Formats: sequence, structure tokens, C-alpha cells
Amino acid sequence: MSNAMWNQAQKLLPGGVNSPVRAFGSVGSIPIFIESAFGSKLKDIDGKEYIDFIGSWGPMILGHSHPDVVKAIQTTAALGASFGACSPLEVQFAQMVCDIVPSLEMIRMVNSGTEATMSAVRLARGYTGKNGIIKFRGCYHGHGDSFLIEAGSGALTHGVPSSAGVTPGSAQDTLLADYNDLESVEVILKTNVVAAVIVEPVPGNMGIVLPKKGFLSGLRDLCDKYNALLIFDEVMTGFRLSSSGAEGLFKVSPDLATFGKIIGGGLPVGGYGGKKEIMHYVSPLGPVYQAGTLSGNPLAMAAGIATLKNLTVDFYKSLEEKAAYFGKGLATIIENSDHDLQLNRVGSMLTLFFSPKPIESFADTKHIDTQKYGAFFQKMLSKGIYLPPSAFESLFISNAHSLEDLDNALVKIKESLEEL
Ligand code: PLP
Repeated sequence: MSNAMWNQAQKLLPGGVNSPVRAFGSVGSIPIFIESAFGSKLKDIDGKEYIDFIGSWGPMILGHSHPDVVKAIQTTAALGASFGACSPLEVQFAQMVCDIVPSLEMIRMVNSGTEATMSAVRLARGYTGKNGIIKFRGCYHGHGDSFLIEAGSGALTHGVPSSAGVTPGSAQDTLLADYNDLESVEVILKTNVVAAVIVEPVPGNMGIVLPKKGFLSGLRDLCDKYNALLIFDEVMTGFRLSSSGAEGLFKVSPDLATFGKIIGGGLPVGGYGGKKEIMHYVSPLGPVYQAGTLSGNPLAMAAGIATLKNLTVDFYKSLEEKAAYFGKGLATIIENSDHDLQLNRVGSMLTLFFSPKPIESFADTKHIDTQKYGAFFQKMLSKGIYLPPSAFESLFISNAHSLEDLDNALVKIKESLEEL
């Protein structure tokens, strides 16, 4: 059935998909079509079950179809899907996130991570009166024009990290630096044209790369020194690495932060926020225009609230224990394998790289053997383990993964590596 669906999809959707990485282009097969998902498992339309290590690319930290989230969506939907007017859920949600994340004094809700980052950069420009932004090679901030220059994620997977259709005018304001290299940032900041430095505090879109000690705090200091705003793109890391994301884990406070994924519990969502003084520049209070018909949508707010209520101290403790268990198992497999493998893990996000060298920067990603990853991915898929269909992405562990799921995956990883 997946074959027939794929043939039809290709006639109707560009490349058969609504987001490029779903096409499985870089792992050499046609995609599977998912019918349903519960807990840690996906079921495809052919009835085959998979242990899911993508979690919709991050949002499903509670696992799929969590009863609290399903109930919140059902109850809210019965009262109307969208009003285009103020609703109490928006205020309740904003209160929750601003109470949890120290750097957030105010937040504006949007409908995707892309919208959040685009809007945060516009705000930074409006606030500082400067046009330039610094972006790191290999980081991905969604598909806004300013970000599709040496971008990670699907752009990197498909070998076109810079997109056609981005005007030279947009591109010229995006200044590229190297992650984990403060000097490359300072050289640009000295030109005094930079409104903001935007960074995935832990990049997940070139595979997981860990910040070197002092890198994130160094960015903070440099931004203060050169009057640029520091934007943490926490679309992936927010509410995952800790209740206050990477900012909580690394104790570095940005001026603005962007969110998505987890805060919508699987529904389309994004948000950007930070200091009041800066957020007061957003329309209708200030001169930076930004709006949205479905922004703060009651369904997304209800799903987000239901998700966040589950993210207790005990929840993160249990998640870290599971991730550490899985990481330890992988490290043992790597030690005893003939393949060149590297593991980068931060909390419940991790990447197994097919590389002879550690991956500490975008430049290091050129050592990754994408062909071998594709073959490995196929073996794992056939054994019922759903990994990212790209060598440059993160695996996500949810609290719905049982130790049995993790053991099962480890056994299959070992087997698949031996078969390669
Ligand atoms: N920023 C980061 C760090 C992301 O990982 C992503 C998506 O993966 C985005 C922004 C874009 O979010 P969305 O796909 O919701 O537009």
C-alpha cells in the first residue's frame, strides 16, 4: 500500500512530500506512510510497527497520543477551533512559559518554528536599527530567506544548503560564522552592522554538535560588547534539554528565544519572546509588524498546556535516565564495532555519526559517510526501528520509550552494524 500511496503522492505533492526530509531521498528508498502512533510506536499503512526515534522531529516528548493531550485537543475542539479573537488559553499558556523560562518576560505566539525565527530577527533589526545577522554554518532556523544560507537539516541532507529564490539582498545581510569558534563571530561583530547573533544553542540540524565550554557564555559576552542581541533558537532544545531548555542547562540567558515543537504538543506552533523592553517593539505596541490569523490557536494552546503540565522534575529525571541508558549502550556497541562511529548526546537528543573523526563543527560533518548511514538506516527500518532518514539529524527519546524499547533498538543496532 505504501508503494501505491507514494506513486499518487508524487503526482500531487512536490517530491511526494510536504517537507523534504520525509522523502527518504538520501537513504535510498521510498518513504513509509504512517497510519497511527501511540506511545513510542508508529504503525504504517501496511500494518508494520516501528519503535519511533524521531517523535515528529522533537515535539512528542511525552510519546504519541498522550491521553492528556488527546483529551485537551478534543475538549477544546468541541468549543470551536479558532476565533480570530482573544482567548483565555493564550494568556494561560503565556503565563506558564514565562513562569518556567527565566529569560522570557513576554512571548508572542505564531504557527511554526520558521515564523518564530523570522519574526525574532525582524524584531532584533527593528530594535537595534541594524540589518545584519550572524548565523552559524550548519545551523537550521527554518526556511525563512535569511536562514537558507549554508543551512542544516533538510537543506544539508539534500546537498543544497543554500536555496534558489533567496535574493542577493536577503543573503547579504546574513553573515556566516563557525559554531564553537568565537573568533569567527567577533571578526564580524567588529563591523558593527549586526543586529543579532542567532544560534541553535546545541545544534541538532547538522546532527548533534555539543557547545565547547565557554562558547555560549562567550557569545553572550560578545553580544553585550558589540550591542547585538543574542537569540537562542530553542525550537528543538526548548523544554527538552531542561524545563528551560538550553538556557537552563548551560546557564546562559539570551535576549530573545524562539520556540516550537514541544510547546504545541504536536500541533502547529511557534513562539518568540524575551525581555519586555525588546518585546514592546512588537505591533500593536511598537513599530515591528507581525501578525497571524491562527496565532495562539486554542487547539495548539490546549495541547501545549497539557504537554507542559506533564514536564515535571520527575519527568526530566526519568527521561535523562533513559537517554543515559541508551547512550551507554550505544557507547559499548561503538567500542566493539569495526566501523568508524561517533556518538554525540545531550540529554534526550543524540546522533550516531558514521565518521572516523569526532564531530565538533560543521566542517567536521564532511567526514560523515552518508552512504553507509543510508544502508544502516534501511537495515534498521526493516527491523522495525524508525531512525531519522538523514545522517545529519538527531534522534529523540521520549518518556514513552520503555527500557525494553531501548534494549530492542540496541540489539538491532548491533545486528545492523555487523551486517553492514
Ligand atoms: N529552528 C530549529 C532549531 C529547528 O530545528 C526547526 C525545525 O526543525 C526550525 C527552527 C523550524 O521549525 P518549523 O519546522 O516548525 O518551521
